[in-house]
Amino acid sequence: MQYISTRGGMAPQAFSDILLGGLAPDGGLVVPEVYPQVDNATLQAWRSLSYPQLAYEIVSRFATDIPAADVRRLVEAAYTRDAFGSDEITPLTELEPGLHLLHLSNGPTLAFKDIAMQLLGQLFEYVLARRGESVNIVGATSGDTGSAAEYAMRGKQGVNVFMLSPHGRMSPFQRAQMFSLQDANIHNLAVEGTFDDCQDIVKAINNDASFKASYKISAVNSINWGRIVAQVVYYFRAYLKVASKIGDPVDFVVPSGNFGNICAGHIARQMGLPIGKLVVATNENDVLDEFFKTGRYTVRGSAATHATSSPSMDISKASNLERFVFDLIDRDSAALAGLWREVDSTGGFDFGKTPSFARMVGEFGFSSGKSTHADRIATIRSAKSRWNVVLDPHTADGVKVALESRRPGVPMVTLETALPAKFEATILEALGEQPPRPAELADLESRPQRSSVMPNDADAIKQYLISTLA
Ligand SMILES: *Cc1c(COP(=O)(O)O)cnc(C)c1O
Repeated sequence: MQYISTRGGMAPQAFSDILLGGLAPDGGLVVPEVYPQVDNATLQAWRSLSYPQLAYEIVSRFATDIPAADVRRLVEAAYTRDAFGSDEITPLTELEPGLHLLHLSNGPTLAFKDIAMQLLGQLFEYVLARRGESVNIVGATSGDTGSAAEYAMRGKQGVNVFMLSPHGRMSPFQRAQMFSLQDANIHNLAVEGTFDDCQDIVKAINNDASFKASYKISAVNSINWGRIVAQVVYYFRAYLKVASKIGDPVDFVVPSGNFGNICAGHIARQMGLPIGKLVVATNENDVLDEFFKTGRYTVRGSAATHATSSPSMDISKASNLERFVFDLIDRDSAALAGLWREVDSTGGFDFGKTPSFARMVGEFGFSSGKSTHADRIATIRSAKSRWNVVLDPHTADGVKVALESRRPGVPMVTLETALPAKFEATILEALGEQPPRPAELADLESRPQRSSVMPNDADAIKQYLISTLA
């Protein structure tokens, strides 16, 4: 299995070669040359597999340059009862007939990002040790990626993490989770700007080829291909649990920001998993809802990005969308590069009057919905009274959209992306009581914190790296 760039400017490379990188050298995203295909007989056989066994089947089809026995060992090390609280890893519950919740947030940082990141920690350490190399991970987080990355990489040999987060825009819990880590290889940089600003700085650093090479810059943000592969696994897992007969459609609703989670659903579908609809749920930052409703993709600047009560979705430029659009336009990299030049020069592009718009809704099964603060609060309340379940605000956005998007006779799975304990203020507003919190995190906010406030300026961040690594 070889990997290429969506923009056509990268010679094919193996999984281990692209794993440690961020953007492709031409500014595109890395994608496999072809998607491995899984037929219904294989799906049927996979129904009895444990989570690590299923993860092995899927990851080994993408990481073909890593010996199979090593892939098996790495997925077994990543997906343990110890890290995820149960052998199920991603348990599934039924809220009411046909309406399911896929629990992805039982890892160390209580958000779905742990699923990908715990595997990435294993893969990074393995590949670096094999090559005798080291890397400096520079990432941007709106809250959950950063902590998941830091918990996966803390203390790992050959890895430093420099995590940029929007200063003052994370919840106190998220901030404490990241900033309380005392490991010497973990560096928290609080940037005076939004998540999109942080992401732009990471892009600028990656676009500086000589800096990137001299300082061995690597990435684990949601454009990392290894993360996407890890996320493909739980779509298969949920499908195999929910479909009454292999081949029947199952619909998924995904609370979305950077389009990384739902992109994995798209890839599962391209591999042959009989997903019916893939429904994008956004908050007030509804760039993706607009795209899937009208075909117009219009990115917004940080001034037009609202700070909401589902902060991990406060994103107005969805990096991973490029991977989907690449498939949508039949993998025409010249056309894709043209579209993203249009994004850079005019702020977007419009598929509204093109055949691509009909195809994304029809052949590719996408639709979307949006949720506001009032919807979020109402959904958290009604979920508590109808099902006795406390939803986190992001998952509430998903459930709100799921309830409007259900089709008769088709099971609907909403992806739970975080636990409510991470977002106490919103839960308190909705329910008048604190969310349940895992006992070992009782004193989290009172632990000493380490971080540096930085200006919204790529050069200042580079200087910080230079002096820290000197
Ligand atoms: C990261 C995150 C999202 C958005 O996921 P994307 O892959 O960026 O679309 C949604 N909810 C929570 C809780 C998250 O941490």
